[in-house]
Amino acid sequence: MRIEADLKLDFSDVLFRPKRSTLKSRKEVDLNREYTFKYSKHSYQGIPIMAANMDGVGTLKMAESLSQKGLFTCLVKSYTLADFKTFKGTYDPRLIAVSTGTSDKDLDNLQEILKAHPEFHTICIDVANGYSEHFGDYVARVRKLYPDHILIAGNVVTADMTQELVLRGADIVKVGIGPGSVCTTRIQTGVGYPQLSAIIECADAAHGLGAHIIADGGCTCPGDVAKAFGAGADFVMLGGMLAGHDEGEGQIVTKHEFTGDLDPQSHQMMFEPYQYVEFYGMSSDTAMKKHKGEMADYRSSEGRTVKIPYRGPVLATVKDILGGIRSTCTYVGAENLKSLSKCTTFIRVARQFNDVFA
Ligand code: 5GP
Repeated sequence: MRIEADLKLDFSDVLFRPKRSTLKSRKEVDLNREYTFKYSKHSYQGIPIMAANMDGVGTLKMAESLSQKGLFTCLVKSYTLADFKTFKGTYDPRLIAVSTGTSDKDLDNLQEILKAHPEFHTICIDVANGYSEHFGDYVARVRKLYPDHILIAGNVVTADMTQELVLRGADIVKVGIGPGSVCTTRIQTGVGYPQLSAIIECADAAHGLGAHIIADGGCTCPGDVAKAFGAGADFVMLGGMLAGHDEGEGQIVTKHEFTGDLDPQSHQMMFEPYQYVEFYGMSSDTAMKKHKGEMADYRSSEGRTVKIPYRGPVLATVKDILGGIRSTCTYVGAENLKSLSKCTTFIRVARQFNDVFA
C-alpha cells in the first residue's frame, strides 16, 4: 500500500484571483475556439461546451438547439440508425459526436450510423473506466477504421492513462471519474480523483502530445465551468447543468407541493403545482433497466435517479452559463476563452460563497 500525500483539488477548493484588466465589457469577450487535432484531418470551431451523452441530455433535439449557439452535443450511445432517420429537426453535424461503447454490437451500430451519415466526423468512445487494456485496444481499432475522424476516448483521470489513450489514437481524452451529479462511483467503489486536479494534470499530459481534453462532470454552476477552462480544459462536458430542459425529451410530471401555509378562509393546507423531470446516471438501475432490460447480477448501480425541476428551453440556461464565463474573463483580464487559462491564478479557499439566504 502507498499513500500519495499531495493535496488534490476540486472546483469548490478554489476561486479565481481577480486581475487588472483593460477589458471594458463582457461583450468584448470571445468564447469561440478553433482546434486542429493530433490525428484527425477535421478541425473544430465553436464554443467548446458539450452536452453529455446521457439520457435527457445527449439528444438530437439538444443538438439542434445547442448547435444554434455553436455548442457541441455527444449523443447517447443508445441511438441507432433508425433514430437519425426519424428525426425531423436540423442540426450541424460538425457539432455532434456519435457515441459508442466497446462491445462488438456497439461497433456494428457505430459503423452502420457512420456509413449512412458520412457527414458526422466525431466519434465518442465512452466507458466508465478507461483503464482496461481492452479499452485501449478498442480505441486503436476504431482509430484504424476511421483514420480521419475526430476520436474522443474516456474516462480517465491521470496523466499516464491520458498519454496512453492519445498514443492509442485518441484526439481528445475525456477526463473525470466520480465527480458527476448523478454518479455514485465514489460511494460504491471508493475510487475517484478531485476534478480540478485531474483536469490540470491530464491537460498537461495531453497538450504535451498535441492532444486535447474534455473536463467531464462535476460542474454545478457557470463558475465551475469557467474554473475547468481556467485549469486547462479544451472542452467542458455538462450533464446535470443541461438536464431538465425541453430538449432532453424527458417526461414532465406535475406534483402539488404543500406551500407551508394554510388558506386564511378555509384553514386548509395550500398546495402549489411543481413540475419536474426524472434524471439518472447512465450506470443507474433506471438506465440499466431501460437499455439492457435489467441490472446484471454481478454489478451494482453506480448512478442515482433524481427528480429535478423542469427548466423550459435550454438556450436560456446556455445564456446564463456563457454570461458567467464572459464575466470570469473580464475579472481576470482574458479577452477570449483561449487566454483564460494563461490569465488564471487560483487561490485556495475554505469557503466558496455566502449561503445565508441560499
Ligand atoms: P455532471 O455534469 O452531471 O456533473 O456529470 C456528467 C457526467 O457524469 C457524464 O458525462 C458521465 O461522465 C458521468 N456519469 C453519467 N452517468 C453516470 C453514472 O451513472 N455513474 C457514473 N459514475 N458517472 C456517470
